[in-house]
Amino acid sequence: MPRSRPVADTFTPDERSRLMSLIRSRDTKPERAVRSLLHHLGYRFTISGPRNRRLPGKPDIVLPKFETVIMVHGCFWHRHPGCRLASTPSTNAEFWQNKFDRNVARDARVRRKLNQQGWSVMVIWECQTRTVDGLEKIAARLRRTLSGTKISYAASPEKTAALRVAEKARKAPRKKIRKVESPGKHDAR
Ligand SMILES: [Zn+2]
Repeated sequence: MPRSRPVADTFTPDERSRLMSLIRSRDTKPERAVRSLLHHLGYRFTISGPRNRRLPGKPDIVLPKFETVIMVHGCFWHRHPGCRLASTPSTNAEFWQNKFDRNVARDARVRRKLNQQGWSVMVIWECQTRTVDGLEKIAARLRRTLSGTKISYAASPEKTAALRVAEKARKAPRKKIRKVESPGKHDAR
């Protein structure tokens, strides 16, 4: 597929085409894109389980195994710093500013509470989910952040077990086969 801009070669053509399909439809919600991305990368997560409801801020995406919460923030409502989507309406500016301030303060409070309970928080901004480049960067960040914590998702238990068995078989000393020269053996046949 022809590209308009060069991109760091972190993904295979297959992965790239999957990413393309994620953003192909215009109505793709940022959260849905992130969920699809996680799914394709093979990460397990919960979206509306009891854990999600119990945690501070009732996060939408929870990865229990990695003790990580992913927050997908809309750039306008959550004020993505320096983002063109985070404009302030010119009418009722004070009303909007108060509203934005409350949102930002709440986000910070939720992040702090989650951290205090031992959860890592990863914030993904809406604008990052709108392009393939952005999704690639998110995927790379997920791999980097999550693979360093508890498990390597590339190694399935079955594969690990199979490799262990093969390795053990390779290392095992061969049994010496002794030639038994017994006189009269040939005569016995
Ligand atoms: Zn943004």
